[in-house]
Amino acid sequence: MSQIKFYYQDAVPLEMHKVRIVQKLRLKPVEERVRAIAEAGNNTFLLKNEDVFLDMLTDSGVNAMSDQQLSAMMVADDSYAGSTTFTKLEQKIEEIFGKKYFLPTHQGRACENILARAYVKPGDVLPMNYHFTTVKAHIGLNGGTVEELYYPEALATTSDNPFKGNMDPERLRGLIAQIGAAQIPFVRMEAGTNLIGGQPFSLANLKAVYAVCQAANIPLVLDASLLADNLYFIKVREDAYRDASIRTIAREMADHSDIIYFSARKLGHARGGGICTNSQDAYMRMRELVPVYEGFLTYGGMSVREIEAIAVGLDETMDFNMINQGPSFIAYMADELQKRGVPIVTPPGGLGCHINAMEFVSHIPQQEYPAGALAAAIYIAGGLRGMERGTLSEERLPDGGEHFSNMELVRLALPRRVFTLSQIKYAVDRLSWLHENRHLIGGLKFVEEPKVLRFFLGRLAPVSDWQQKLAIQFRADFGDSL
Ligand SMILES: *Cc1c(COP(=O)(O)O)cnc(C)c1O
Repeated sequence: MSQIKFYYQDAVPLEMHKVRIVQKLRLKPVEERVRAIAEAGNNTFLLKNEDVFLDMLTDSGVNAMSDQQLSAMMVADDSYAGSTTFTKLEQKIEEIFGKKYFLPTHQGRACENILARAYVKPGDVLPMNYHFTTVKAHIGLNGGTVEELYYPEALATTSDNPFKGNMDPERLRGLIAQIGAAQIPFVRMEAGTNLIGGQPFSLANLKAVYAVCQAANIPLVLDASLLADNLYFIKVREDAYRDASIRTIAREMADHSDIIYFSARKLGHARGGGICTNSQDAYMRMRELVPVYEGFLTYGGMSVREIEAIAVGLDETMDFNMINQGPSFIAYMADELQKRGVPIVTPPGGLGCHINAMEFVSHIPQQEYPAGALAAAIYIAGGLRGMERGTLSEERLPDGGEHFSNMELVRLALPRRVFTLSQIKYAVDRLSWLHENRHLIGGLKFVEEPKVLRFFLGRLAPVSDWQQKLAIQFRADFGDSL
């Protein structure tokens, strides 16, 4: 079901789409890559895209759109208020999730801003299966704190647990008993938990968590930004849903959530976001914030063309053959890297392939940002742009000390339907080479450190001339190859 069988050779993931528009790529020589990463302050967010060969920074807003989406964009109804296009999306949301109220926003974190402003007051505690950078920032800005209630397995980098994104309902029950429901404005479940490697939760787990929330009268908020991968994994990993359609699974998830929000830069392969619910109280609480921060209630900061594309993209997300490409390419990449001894997070999740920097560069201490250093080295080795997901992505402690992350990961995102299998093979080749030469990789130190979300704009420098040495080794091994 999840893979087409091959008769004469080992099966590889097979795309159920064809490519009809292409974009030319450039691969710069290794010496120029060393210069480019220095100019970017060793922060892959600050690299110019023209210096990047395979952009694996994120899956946000860069997934390939379908012909159906592009054609829908042409018929968008452009009006400030009462746009027909908005009604289309509203109806699609109700059809798929069964939620009748929909608030549009310009992207996922805007939903988090609205939720946090409407619900979080100083001293509140927000339980979740795992945090995401932007939600934690918004909750913090409103005086709340995040409490992660995962199982210990969530942080095991190598595991065969199919649902590392599960929340422990007993820990949730315990927390509610300890601090009281009045201090818990909502419980947040994140589909395809981004920061621990795109790991899903099971539908059985969501139901168990929802039951605890219901008993305590606390709303359950589902972050559905990475819902597509979570839907795929429930279907292929959770026995009870093997024969269920993606649409059925999506509805069952929605039926066990009071409020759903999403980044449409991911879910629906477009650019935008939104919040939906059946609770009139929740809707009224959040509604007035939309015109203040986003735009009028029928566009919320989005272009109507994007709104058309989201409506079609959500529909396509309900098609197994549209959502299996990402996770199956990731599984292939993870498998090939594992065969060559490169330490990765297992089981492979959604969103991308996650390299375990704690092990890859175990000689770099956490205060020298091993995952940030590895991300810079990966760019030098192959022009691949990944994202640091480790200590650099954490905020400092109130006393100014480092908050060492549980995991030091480099995420190599695979935007949906963007890369070919030969490009994945190239990435595997360069990563394997880098792993053999990992002793050459050194640490990083901050040169310029922003106070909030420092990983976006911070600038760092290598602690030694290790990047030059890495380039010399590259030349020795690859000759005049790019
Ligand atoms: C990306 C993401 C967000 C934020 O969405 P943006 O559109 O980038 O603002 C929130 N939650 C999760 C799980 C995400 O992956």
